[in-house]
Amino acid sequence: MSRGPVNDALWREAQELLPGGVNSPVRAFRAVGGTPVFFDRGEGPYLFDVEGRRYVDLVGSWGPLILGHAHPRIVAAAREAVERGSSFGAPSPGEVDLARRVLVMVPSMEQVRFVNSGTEAVMSAIRLARAATGRDVIVKFEGCYHGHADSLLVAAGSGALTLGIPDSPGVPGVLAALTAVLPYNDLAAAEAFFAARGSEVACIIVEPIAANMGVVPPRLGFLEGLRALCDRHGALLLFDEVMTGFRVAAGGAQELYGVRPDLTTLSKILGGGFPSGAYGGPRALMQMIAPAGPVYQAGTLSGNPVAMAAGAAQLAVLAETKPWPALDARGARLAAGLADACAAAGIAATVTRVGSMGTLFFLDGEAEDFAAVKRADTGRFARFHAAMLERGVYLPPSQFEAWFLSTAHDDAVIDEVIKAARGALTALAVA
Ligand code: PMP
Repeated sequence: MSRGPVNDALWREAQELLPGGVNSPVRAFRAVGGTPVFFDRGEGPYLFDVEGRRYVDLVGSWGPLILGHAHPRIVAAAREAVERGSSFGAPSPGEVDLARRVLVMVPSMEQVRFVNSGTEAVMSAIRLARAATGRDVIVKFEGCYHGHADSLLVAAGSGALTLGIPDSPGVPGVLAALTAVLPYNDLAAAEAFFAARGSEVACIIVEPIAANMGVVPPRLGFLEGLRALCDRHGALLLFDEVMTGFRVAAGGAQELYGVRPDLTTLSKILGGGFPSGAYGGPRALMQMIAPAGPVYQAGTLSGNPVAMAAGAAQLAVLAETKPWPALDARGARLAAGLADACAAAGIAATVTRVGSMGTLFFLDGEAEDFAAVKRADTGRFARFHAAMLERGVYLPPSQFEAWFLSTAHDDAVIDEVIKAARGALTALAVA
């Protein structure tokens, strides 16, 4: 499908030069079909494509842009930083400033190490968990994504008590076998696994609000139960708050649900849209990281001054304005509007949401775990996605992704999205 001459020419050339035409798979629109949109610029809640069309953006760069595109404070901070040099590979004040801000907002972290992506944060935190416990096995949950490190590109083995198998060619079976994959929101399954193999487990890694199978909030007691299992069996609890950090509350999901993890991974909002990530926890654990301790982890661009400045500006605005209740109200307005629009069109749907992140599933029933969301009608989502694009709304190009709002998405913008959804769903219902 043509998106205009400039877009089409870029897409043709991109496919020649980049595998699949992109630098991260979901951007290629394979799950919804059609040609990806090339963007020229963003402003507040809007994206503008290379043909000059405007869209309400509900992707927000997959989470980082909690203040919308090109927020003046972030632009000013990044510009000022880059004018003083883009990288030093040596200590700079911005690292101390951002660390101070992060540790105030996330009290379970007494020290933090900055890295360049969520993948890197998780990979490093798992190395630390293995070193600290002297154990090799890690536990993750089906439908949770933690980046593309080998130990995490793993699918469930054939039985609940077996360890994982590679989920991508190139992942060694011996590494995958050290990762157990259990059903999300199923505490009984985790208890059964720990009863059999708890003494081998270095850590449980979990998205405290699953957001990579679409948004699936934790069942009451699930996170508390994981905390108790870790305590009983001497394993560490790692909350991957790459999506939820600074988004669902100042202190992320751990603050929202009152469950304290041992280790936390962050990214996205932390860097204000620049490449960034972080992991942290109690001082005694973090003192194991090189050069304080023996666990090796390093990075040429880690603590990059431009990323630090942009991240600090974004966290400063959050701390000053405390936008979480307002974001929650916007999320509620959108979720209610979408649910009404589906009902009016006679289309079965479930809207999940925590604060400003959520997903509209074309699903008859609750979206409470991976098995349930897999029953969603992905064909209908693909048609909906195309119909929303036509109406000027940019949704994540997959049924199994989170939608994100920013402080720039005011009620009028949200109503624009709801109106587009009503039109799109009505068109879908009659098609
Ligand atoms: N953890 C979670 C929970 C994520 O959602 C993601 C990416 N969306 C990652 C880790 C990996 O982050 P990155 O893409 O920055 O490597």
